[in-house]
Amino acid sequence: MKYYILFGPPGAGKGTQATSLRENYHLCHLSTGELLRGEIAAGTPLGLEAKALIDAGNLVPDAVVEGMIESKFNTVKDVEGFLLDGFPRTTAQAEALEGMLQRRGEKVTGVISIMIPDAMIKDRIRHRATIEGRADDAKDEVIEKRIATYHAKTEPLIDFYKARGQYHEVDGTGTIPEVAARLAALMAKLS
Ligand code: AMP
Repeated sequence: MKYYILFGPPGAGKGTQATSLRENYHLCHLSTGELLRGEIAAGTPLGLEAKALIDAGNLVPDAVVEGMIESKFNTVKDVEGFLLDGFPRTTAQAEALEGMLQRRGEKVTGVISIMIPDAMIKDRIRHRATIEGRADDAKDEVIEKRIATYHAKTEPLIDFYKARGQYHEVDGTGTIPEVAARLAALMAKLS
């Protein structure tokens, strides 16, 4: 099985690009953000707990997302691999993922990082807000908080995966097809 991590700041285009990657490489796209929004929509206890944190731009507890990912690894069949989107987001989550994969005799195939400058993040999120209507995209202070959380807690994963020789980066600026072409060139090297 392949285990790809789609990495990048909020608004980099991970979800947008995931659709074609999933189809072209027969992957299960696992977005922890989407799974959490599903729990919120279904009104589950987990969703209720997560909503307040997400709406404030904070991360949900590591154990919550780790459990969601492991249960998908255990149940999803008939795919050639997984495309993790929005997970891991902390060093603790990256270590937990390593443990999960080791227990399965597997390892991360590659981290695919879509990078955009900070100045572009807010414009991309404002644009997405007009299309998707996500509560956490609506308020400037929540967007600021998510960007700060990304820098403080998620960005350190770049060095974590560089040290393991698993980190690969593409330029996320430009049009959707332009970024898709850069990703396709990288995937050809990884698979
Ligand atoms: P996303 O759709 O990836 O932008 O995620 C939306 C929100 O869900 C984030 O701002 C977090 O509050 C929460 N979330 C998603 N993935 C994770 C994760 N791996 N760890 C903690 N919180 C997460």
